[in-house]
Parts: sequence; C-alpha cells; structure tokens
Amino acid sequence: MKELIRKLSETHSLTIEEYEQLVANRTDENARLLRKLAVGVRRDFYGNDIYIRGLIEITNICRNDCYYCGIRRSNVNCDRYRLTRDEIIACADEGYALGFRTFVLQGGEDSYFSDEILGGIVSGIKASHPDCAVTLSMGERSHDSYAYLKACGADRYLLRHETADPVHYSRLHPPAMSYENRIQCLHDLRELGYQVGCGFMVGSPYQDLRNIARDLKFIEDFRPEMCGIGPFIPHKDTPFHDMPAGTLELTCYLLSIIRLIHPPVLLPATTALGTIDPLGREKGIMSGANVVMPNLSPVNVRKKYELYDGKICTGEESAQCRECLSERMRKIGYEIVVGRGDFKRAV
Ligand code: SAH
Repeated sequence: MKELIRKLSETHSLTIEEYEQLVANRTDENARLLRKLAVGVRRDFYGNDIYIRGLIEITNICRNDCYYCGIRRSNVNCDRYRLTRDEIIACADEGYALGFRTFVLQGGEDSYFSDEILGGIVSGIKASHPDCAVTLSMGERSHDSYAYLKACGADRYLLRHETADPVHYSRLHPPAMSYENRIQCLHDLRELGYQVGCGFMVGSPYQDLRNIARDLKFIEDFRPEMCGIGPFIPHKDTPFHDMPAGTLELTCYLLSIIRLIHPPVLLPATTALGTIDPLGREKGIMSGANVVMPNLSPVNVRKKYELYDGKICTGEESAQCRECLSERMRKIGYEIVVGRGDFKRAV
C-alpha cells in the first residue's frame, strides 16, 4: 500500500483497481500516512487558512424524490418553507457583517425559483456586495438557465454527482432522474465558466468499494474546483430510514485521498461530518479539508431543512455559528479567513 500511496501523491492518479485496493486496505497506518501527505499539500496551497462559506437554505420545496433525502417530494411530514427575496438578501447582509465573502444559496428544486427570480436575487446580492462570490446549489437546470444565472453574477455551482456509477445512481434515485443528466449538468456548468463542485455521500445505500473507486476516478478526470463529500445519514421519513450511516473513518480517509488526487481542490468538512461525530469537522480538516460552511439561514427554518436526522447547528444564530467554528478551528491550529476563498490554480 505504501507504494500505491506514494504513486498517488506523486502522480495524482491511480487506476480504478488501485483506488479500490487503497480503500479496501484501510489501516490506521495507511490513514496516518495519507493524512500527513494530504495536510502537507493542503498547506502548500492554503497555509493554515480555512475558508468559510455562508450557507443559506432558501427553500425545502422539491420536485425530486431522491430516496435518501429528507426534503424529498413524497415526505408528507416535511414542513415546507421558502424564503422571500428580502429574507435571503437579509441573510447575506448579516453574513457580510460577520466576515463572509461567499454565499451559497442551496435548496430543493423548487419551480418558484425561476431564472428571473433566482437571477434577480443573485444580482441583488452581487450589487450590494460586489466583493463576494455567489455559489448556487439548486440542483439540475437547463443549460440556458445556468447561462442566465451566470450572466446575473453567479460564480460557482455545487452539484454533487452523488455516484459515478449509473446502476448505483438508479438505486438512489427514482426513474425520472438520470445519471446522464446529472453529468450533463456538470459539463454544462463547467463549459459556462462556473467554478464547479461535484461530490458524493460516503456509505450511501448499496455503495460498494468499486463505486467509491469510480467516484475517485471521476474526481481525478473531472478535476472539480470544489468537492463535497460527507457521510450518508438516514432520515426517518425516507425509504432509506433503516440503512446504516456512513462512517467518520471512511469519510476522513477519502478526504485525504481526494486532496492528493487534486491538491488545490476546495474541500469542505461538511455539516454531515459534524453530525456523526462531535469533532467530525475538526477531524475532516486534519485529514485534508480546507473549507467549512456555517449556516446563515434564519433560525426559524433551520430545523425544516432536514436532509437527514439529527442535523447540527439548527438552533443557533448565524453569529454564534460563525464564532463557534472560528473557535473550533483555532483550537486545532487553523484560522478562518475573511475573503472569497477562491480556488488556487498554481502554488
Ligand atoms: N437540490 C440540490 C441540493 C441538494 S442537498 C441538489 O440537487 O444539488 C445537498 C446534498 O446533500 C445532496 O447533494 C446530497 O449529497 C446530500 N444529502 C441529501 N440527503 C442526505 C442524507 N440523508 N445524508 C447525507 N447527505 C445527504
């Protein structure tokens, strides 16, 4: 395994079979070595800086019915909400005062957010805060829609590929959704000049080692600017309610591998990771992640944006969330910086 790890860290590339071997042969010793190398290259690009993105969960209304997700259309127990333009802009204004220079607007696929409405919100935020980046994470839309939103000022787009295996994809999503369309969206976004984020859930139902190996190869080939991975966590009102959650250990191991595949990638230690372990985000950072995404949503809706059971940070004010994360990062020797936190192309 040492040989494979060395090859990965020097060439940033393994075959699918080799990725599978590396993931299958997880030992504490391999994890330690991967972590050390990952933290080393992360430091070359980003020093001890941790980037923050203010997450604004703008709607939990969704036309899709993903089997894993708590805000899926069929969940009748989900208390639906949608923020108004003014509420969204107020969240961004509050975030700006707290030092955020990137806002992520995330939500279900809610047809209320037409191009005009969503584009108007993006351009509104950009007009008041021209020094900020706006990231969208609003699911699959048409090429024209992505183009329109880009013209309104959107800089980045997060759309996890969820799995790079079409058969696995079809076990996580209803027949109305397709792997091909998901990937087409990622290519459209890239072609339009967005900084693009893909990603997947660790330990999603039916995921095997070969699936993970393919995800890693996909990341190697696609070279996303950002990559969001976090453990799958079951939600009580979904078809996957009794499936086991992904583990902290495997998620951290994969964070280190992804850092070595694509050294400059922006890699968040996700809220899901913080949910399965009280120190999950810290451990993610110490495995090679360099981004955290504190919640800026109004406190009264946070509990309703419940993708999985037990999601953390649903009770605090934005300022508290920001302060708590700064303190957590400081304790492990890192520092949250004020800035857009752009992808670095070269050292
Ligand atoms: N509608 C948008 C945003 C989806 S929510 C989109 O399609 O991109 C953001 C991410 O949360 C999803 O991409 C998924 O990977 C993750 N997620 C959803 N349900 C989850 C669960 N039960 N456990 C962990 N992560 C989950």
